Amino acid sequence: MACEHCTEPRPRCLLQDHVDLNCKKKPVECPNSCGELIVREEITSHVNSDCPLTEISCPYVQMGCSTKILRKKVESHLQSTTRLHLDLTCATFKETTGKLEQTVKTLEKKVQELTTANSALSSKVDAQKKDILRLSNESTTFVWKVDGFSEILKQAKSGSDESIFSEPFYTGKQGYKLRVYIYPDGDQTNKNRYLSVFFAIMKGKYDAILPWPFHQKVTFTLIDQQNDPAKRKNVEMFFMADPSSSSSARATTDELVYMRGVPRFVSHKNLKTRRYIVDDTLFLQAKIDPPN
Ligand SMILES: [Zn+2]
Ligand SMILES: [Zn+2]
Ligand SMILES: [Zn+2]
Repeated sequence: MACEHCTEPRPRCLLQDHVDLNCKKKPVECPNSCGELIVREEITSHVNSDCPLTEISCPYVQMGCSTKILRKKVESHLQSTTRLHLDLTCATFKETTGKLEQTVKTLEKKVQELTTANSALSSKVDAQKKDILRLSNESTTFVWKVDGFSEILKQAKSGSDESIFSEPFYTGKQGYKLRVYIYPDGDQTNKNRYLSVFFAIMKGKYDAILPWPFHQKVTFTLIDQQNDPAKRKNVEMFFMADPSSSSSARATTDELVYMRGVPRFVSHKNLKTRRYIVDDTLFLQAKIDPPN
């Protein structure tokens, strides 16, 4: 048989139990005895939201009124306790304002501290930027004093030691690591005629933060050791790496893969003139200009 309230079919013998205990659509009396008949499934929402006989908190509970009243009496409670509610609200407002003021003061102090710290940091960063700029705008000069040149030349001519090299040095404070080479009797194609000079890029500490490929002008100068600097006639030649060539790439090992420089730096004939070699000593200077 179909239930008269929810129309669901039930066995006749169970229909009465269904209607008395379970049927969601069966109207039942409000548990607060307000006199209303409500379908069973809506009882909870009636009690919580509508029933005039449900006991609820005063709407001013957050201001401090702890009164519990029947829903139907809320209106008259509000009317009769206007003064009390105002006083409570006023006190709560003062307390909240005080707390807010305290919070604002704390925040203001924090902001002040952060601003000070921030401007200190900014000026530090500015100073470092200037430092970096200054360092990268300075050229590096490396002077190599070569003693006992005649013996070195003899070794080169005999083929036992065709080149000598300088101590490694850095271009600037955090720059490239370079080393200068002299082939006193010339490199392969210039044997017996020229002194060749080269440099090699070595694996350095700052390679990771440097621009690659290496593209800076390197000027080699053989210093004329005249007493009077005005009369000096230095030999000067430069080398500029082609940035697209692999010869300016970054060194990946300590093995020197590429040599760059000037194969015909100074002829043997010219080397014997003036005062390029004094007391069997020559001075070779390498100057590395900043980029651009
Ligand atoms: Zn039913
Ligand atoms: Zn009710
Ligand atoms: Zn109240």
